[in-house]
This record gives sequence, C-alpha cells and structure tokens, in this order.
Amino acid sequence: MSHVELSCVECGSRYPEDPTLLVCPACASRQEVGGHTRGVLLVRHAELPDYWPQAHGEWRGWLPLPDGLELPRFPVGDTPLLHGAALGARLGMPHLWLKDDTRNPSGSTKDRASWLVCAKALQFELETVATASTGNAATALACCAAAFGLQAVVFVPVTAPAAKLLHIRACGATLLAVEGSYDQAFELSSAACLARGWYNRNTALNPYTIEGKKTALLEMLTQAPGHALDAIFVGTGDGVILGGLGKGIADLQQAGLLGAAPRLYAVQAGSSDALARGWEAGEAAAARVPRADSVADSLNVEAPRNAQHALQVLAATRGGCVRVSDEELRSAIALLGAAMGIFAEPAGAAALAGLRKALELGLVDAHERVALLITGNGLKDPAAAGSHLPDALRVAPRLEALPKFI
Ligand SMILES: *Cc1c(COP(=O)(O)O)cnc(C)c1O
Ligand SMILES: [Zn+2]
Repeated sequence: MSHVELSCVECGSRYPEDPTLLVCPACASRQEVGGHTRGVLLVRHAELPDYWPQAHGEWRGWLPLPDGLELPRFPVGDTPLLHGAALGARLGMPHLWLKDDTRNPSGSTKDRASWLVCAKALQFELETVATASTGNAATALACCAAAFGLQAVVFVPVTAPAAKLLHIRACGATLLAVEGSYDQAFELSSAACLARGWYNRNTALNPYTIEGKKTALLEMLTQAPGHALDAIFVGTGDGVILGGLGKGIADLQQAGLLGAAPRLYAVQAGSSDALARGWEAGEAAAARVPRADSVADSLNVEAPRNAQHALQVLAATRGGCVRVSDEELRSAIALLGAAMGIFAEPAGAAALAGLRKALELGLVDAHERVALLITGNGLKDPAAAGSHLPDALRVAPRLEALPKFI
C-alpha cells in the first residue's frame, strides 16, 4: 500500500487515517440530526498501480490495506460481468452487460463495503463492529465479521424482510430490531458506537464503505471489452454504491488508465426519491423525503447519507437520476429472471427498470455500451417479486393430467 490520507468531499481538508475519525470535523459541525452526512471522507491514495489487473482478485494494491496485514480468506466481489444477449435482444441493445453482484457471499454489493471495514477493524485491532442497515449491510457485516472472528452488533428496522433478519441471526450477530425507520436505526446505532466504543460501519460515515464499493467499478471496467462503458445503472438509496462507482472512476483516472468516464445513473424507487429531488433542485439539502416505503426496502431512505458526494458524482460523470414505480420494479424482476436466469430483489432489479425508463426518456441510445449493477439476490425478499411471476401449474401425479399446452 502506498501512503493514504482521508479527504473531505465538501471542503477538501485532509486527515491521517484514524479509526475514530469518521467525518470531517469542520464540516460535520453543520450536521443536522437525521439529515444527510456532512463532511463525508474519501480515501486518497498518494499512488495507484498504473496497469489493469491481469487476474481476478488483484485489487489489493488499490485498497488502503498495509502490505503485511494478513486476512482470513473470505472471497468477496470478483463477480462476473455477463453479456446480456437475450435481455439485450428484447431491448434492442447489442452491448448490454450485467454485473451479477447477487453472487457475493451474503448476496449483495454490501459485502464489498463490509469486507473492507472488517479488514480495517483487524488492522486497527478492534473487536466489535456495529452498523444500522435496511437489512443487507447488516447481513454483510454479520457474515464477514463471523469469517474474520469479529463481533457484529446490527440495528435493523423491525419491518425488514424476514429472510434478511434470519440470515443475520444465522451468522451469530447481535440483532437489534429497531421499532422505527432505518433513519432512526442509523441515529441509534451511531450513538451506541460512541457510548460503547464500537467501530462504526455506518454507510457514508465510515470512509471505507465508499472505498470498498469502488471495487465493483474497478471490476466492471476491467471486465468490459476495451475497458470501456458508456453508462452504468444502479439502484440508489443512500448513494454509497453510486459514490463508490464514482470513486472507482476517479481512481482509474488518477492512475491514468481511464479516459472518458461512463455516465452514472441513479435509479430511485417511487416514494424514496430524495436524491432525484436533490438532483433536480441542484442541491443536497433538498435531498430529503418524509416517508420512503417502496417495495425496494433496500432503497427506502428518507435522507440519503451520501447525498452531497452522490450529486457530485452524477454531475462529474454527466449522468442523472431516474424514478421507477413498484410495478416497474416487479416487472424488471420477472424480465431479469426470464431473460438472464438472475433472481434479484427489487433494489437489485432497479438497474434494469431504470434502464427501460432511460430508453423511454431518450437518456440512453440503444447502441451504447451499458452495464447494470445487479446489487441484491431475490431470495432475500422473495415475497416482493411474487405477484408478477407466472403461477405454478397444479397437477395430479399422472401423465394424463399434464395440460396439453405445455
Ligand atoms: C444498499 C443497497 C442498494 C443501495 O445502495 P446505497 O448505497 O444505499 O445507495 C441497492 N441495492 C441493494 C440490494 C442494496 O442492499
Ligand atoms: Zn470538510
């Protein structure tokens, strides 16, 4: 690892790495309770490799980890970028790609962030890591902490999908089911970290969440033909995956490997459209909605924590925001399954729903090279897809009973 510092996305101040430093103290003094995070810090590398990795799993040189640090083997990322031939044919798109992050160990892109935070906890010799989550970040932390021999304490709204809560318990984490919203769970968990001295993994508060998620972008551009894509779509709630994609682009440009950046599109779900509102108003302060309750539970946030940085990334890549309805999300789940054999949760299928919307709106041309980041596995919330899928055919166990039309 070369030398790293942390730098503030708002004022540019730089700080040395420190496990108790989560945000820029100068900018954080302007933080409103429950609002988006002020003074988000990004990792700044003094030097980065100047070549594309030749093999899978060669990203260590791009991450802020000391060379000698030994980590238990718990592979995260290195998911395939699949050519969406059948899906592309239906949309008239010959150059459509899908980054299948449902194949991560806990079934979502959140594993990328939790892996790096757990690695930093080992480096800093901390024992307990805590987070709030709509479900997936907590599941990812529970799994990775178990694999790394760390304790996990997670705060999840009591309304989270049952499979996510079960998965967390199966991995031995202490699960606090909060009687309130995700935003309330976030405030509670951060206060608890301060009071108990736990390492805070909260998204867009812990600088290594954005840094961990950047690996999705590094992999996508390593895997894409000619290392080039015109646009990438991703389901967006707090804007940390989006911020990670933007950070990956910035790092590749710093390394001199990438010319034109792909345009990044944030896909927002129905009532949970705070970032789209901020984008349209041109200010992060507008990024707030009173009630976020779309079918995509992973996208339901009232005040996106990484609003400021996410809006910077959308502007820097000349991308944008699109909104999709619950119906459009469910229909995207069915299309993704039938055309690609990938079962996604609603937030995971949001990228596809957003692409269909962008084609309608003329934001994307059908001949462009487009990648969809499929962020979460459908088995995490099977009930959400149900109403749009073909029914089972009930049949008696006799050959004559098989319907003639099959
Ligand atoms: C968390 C999550 C998202 C959104 O990521 P943000 O960083 O909150 O924008 C999208 N899809 C899935 C499956 C997620 O778990
Ligand atoms: Zn600052």
